[in-house]
Amino acid sequence: MAFRNIMRAGCCAAALVFAAVAPSLAAAQTSAAGRHRIVLPDAVTPDHYNLEITPDAKAQTFTGEVRIDVTVHRATDRIVLNAADLVIDSAKLSGESAPLPVSYDAKDETAAFAVGHTLTPGAYTLTLAYHGKIFDQASGLFFLDYVSNQGKARALFTQFENSDARRFVPSWDEPGRKATFQLTAVVPADQMALNNMPIARSEPLPGGLKRVTFAETPKMSSYLLFFGLGDFERVHRMVDGVDVGVVVKRGDTASAAFALDAEAQILPYYNSYFGKPFPLPKLDLIAGPGSSQFFGAMENWGAIFSFEGDLLVDPRISTEADKQNVYIVTAHEMAHQWFGDLVTMNWWDDLWLNEGFASWMENKVTDHFHPEWKVWLQELGDKQSAMQVDARDGTHPIITPIDDVLQAAGAFDTITYSKGSAVIRTLESYLGEDAFRAGVRRYMADHAYGNTVTDDLWAEMDKGSSRPITQMAHDFTLQAGVPMISEASARCVGGKTVLDLSQGHFVIDPASTTARIWHVPVAAASLGGAAAKAVISGATPTAMTVEGCGPAIVNAGQTAYFRTKYSQDGLAAISAHYAALGPDDQLGIFNDTASLAYVGQEPMSAFLDLTEALPPDADPVVAQALTDRLSGLDDLYSGLPTQKAYRAYARRVLGRMFARVGWNKAAGESDNTSSLRSSLIIDLGQVGDTDVLAEARRRFASYVADPSSLDAATRQAVLRIVAVHADASIWDQLHAMAKAAKTQLEQQEFYILLSAVQDDGLAQRALDLAASGEPPATTMPGMIRMVSVRHPALAFTFAAAHWDQIAKVLEPTSQGSYMPRLIGNASDATLIPKLDAFAKDHIPESARQDLRKAEATIRYLAKVRAERLPEADKWIAAHGG
Ligand SMILES: [Zn+2]
Repeated sequence: MAFRNIMRAGCCAAALVFAAVAPSLAAAQTSAAGRHRIVLPDAVTPDHYNLEITPDAKAQTFTGEVRIDVTVHRATDRIVLNAADLVIDSAKLSGESAPLPVSYDAKDETAAFAVGHTLTPGAYTLTLAYHGKIFDQASGLFFLDYVSNQGKARALFTQFENSDARRFVPSWDEPGRKATFQLTAVVPADQMALNNMPIARSEPLPGGLKRVTFAETPKMSSYLLFFGLGDFERVHRMVDGVDVGVVVKRGDTASAAFALDAEAQILPYYNSYFGKPFPLPKLDLIAGPGSSQFFGAMENWGAIFSFEGDLLVDPRISTEADKQNVYIVTAHEMAHQWFGDLVTMNWWDDLWLNEGFASWMENKVTDHFHPEWKVWLQELGDKQSAMQVDARDGTHPIITPIDDVLQAAGAFDTITYSKGSAVIRTLESYLGEDAFRAGVRRYMADHAYGNTVTDDLWAEMDKGSSRPITQMAHDFTLQAGVPMISEASARCVGGKTVLDLSQGHFVIDPASTTARIWHVPVAAASLGGAAAKAVISGATPTAMTVEGCGPAIVNAGQTAYFRTKYSQDGLAAISAHYAALGPDDQLGIFNDTASLAYVGQEPMSAFLDLTEALPPDADPVVAQALTDRLSGLDDLYSGLPTQKAYRAYARRVLGRMFARVGWNKAAGESDNTSSLRSSLIIDLGQVGDTDVLAEARRRFASYVADPSSLDAATRQAVLRIVAVHADASIWDQLHAMAKAAKTQLEQQEFYILLSAVQDDGLAQRALDLAASGEPPATTMPGMIRMVSVRHPALAFTFAAAHWDQIAKVLEPTSQGSYMPRLIGNASDATLIPKLDAFAKDHIPESARQDLRKAEATIRYLAKVRAERLPEADKWIAAHGG
């Protein structure tokens, strides 16, 4: 899945909220940590599902009949499978004359069929007739409503990861229980039905209906099954023998062109990289009108689902950053067609095999076709986020024991995605691109259509390799935390630099620490020189020699997952030559220095000096990190008397950058420059640049008169800054624009903009509007979240008071994450007891991963505000506002 994070893309699926008590029908397996894992017994396993469903979209119900070919492996007198929110009307087993009685376990989400005598091992067919519900959030079979030219319309989709196929079909709903599926659906004759596979046959039925039967899928996990239905259009072409397509609601095909081009470009690359061509006859990207707080897209095999914002590009309103996002999300979900769909983790412990790998691969392929986007440089921002989480309470090893579906939902996080991706990059850099790819190809060849654990991947990498990586990989995946390489001194000896390096770890919360040792691959270089490589392990200083003298950079190229702490002299030398460094090193050193300064391991002056040393013509991605950092710092200054002086300094630094990019797009400028301009406009507005604000309002007025007066990127920045600083009349104007919006995508944008307002009274109006029923249902949680950016306490109180209404449109297994994430970037420690009180009533124990992480973040930011800003104030006073 594409994870919808505060930064780039978050996750996940749904289930019952239950307390973790001893399992009954499901077998309790003891995992390595001595905990109880809730899984099905293995006496009976599925081979093939033949499924027919008849949805009633209006009534929000469906009926189903499924014939499951199963193998009985050993004598048993009952069959247990997963079912949740389903009623089984009849059950028959081949060879048995009487129907089987069914009993349910709501807590474990299982149904059990008593046979009445002992079955001998062999092949059987279980036939079930049942009915179920169509949900109003993305779990199981769900609907999304929208307004079309013909009026109100409803489309149906499924979302099963991690464990919601059991809400659609009684099944062995665990990733390790692969089987083939053949789906038939009885649907309105004028609608398009979608599945993982193409349609095999379609026959008309009386009453304006048709029966559509899809081709049989290859062997796959239940969470990858897909069904969709609606008034859709499909654009498509043949690529490498595969029918690739994009499916949108009728009338949206023009917005599908960008994604189709991306899909067609990426498929041949993956066919070659993985060494196994895409095995299905077709691959669709399917757009759903709506949004989720937890995920953007889902990799159903052959039928990738995305919410519209992650798939459609509307030239009128989509920015360069939006296009990059669509390309990257598409690349991510397509990488899963191999990593996840063809070869699947055996259990959720190894979720990172799917998500870390897809997050890494999305960058690899995007960098190949769009080097100008500099996605590896952008990825340093994701690595930075992961390191901050990984150094605080609530972190966990990449490979982490998962016992039940709620815990599995909590595993879709920054560690799994961003640290996972950063660790794969670390290992690929160490092993070399060709050797790494050869290992991936062996892994795909040996495990296609099967299930694996992470060690299967390392074993393929190490086959015949002179550089085994298993030990190093274990260090980074089985223990939490961030290694830190300290440079104690750098001496020039005979034209070479000798660095004394040792290893410790970067810590924000003591709770995140235990004594750890990593085998860390370190590349070091003097400015402009070739990199030397070594593996540094343990606290004993290791001397490393690099060619040339002058400033020496540890983690040269910034490809490895660790922080670097330089000696005072070492950092001073780098700072003096900062403008001459490559953008990767500029950004890596900036992130390391800022993070160390925020926890008092470097003076704040070291970080603030770098903000001045960065040249105005720095790479836009590096400049973007600077502007993000300064707006984050402004949030920390909120309400402090010294904010005024801070803002004067921030205006000076950002103003220098903005003077270079200006208001208007230059001929031939890069997409990233265009994105930087938007951020600078928004952030200069935030720190009170009255000229920028006045110009934005002037441009807004002309935009209202003539929408073509602004290009898409400037339009978004102008709307944002005007919305943040709106008074009642502007806010009403934006509200009218929301109601008049031509597309769902644009409408959603305006409702979110209304929620970005700074003014307290208008923020309250935005909250009231969110809950009024006027915006599309799935937009409400996003609006409240946007209000919380500037008014965390207000948004939290409102959300707690309207919890029942919000929870209705959140995926059940992810509900425990919403409130922690709502205020997870606040620096007000008084919110922590409020969050605890909410959790007591509403967040089950096994779903509290995000709670711990959010509270650790709030404590951290409150501490930076109280302890580190005074030091920044001194520097600002000395350097002038
Ligand atoms: Zn994913």
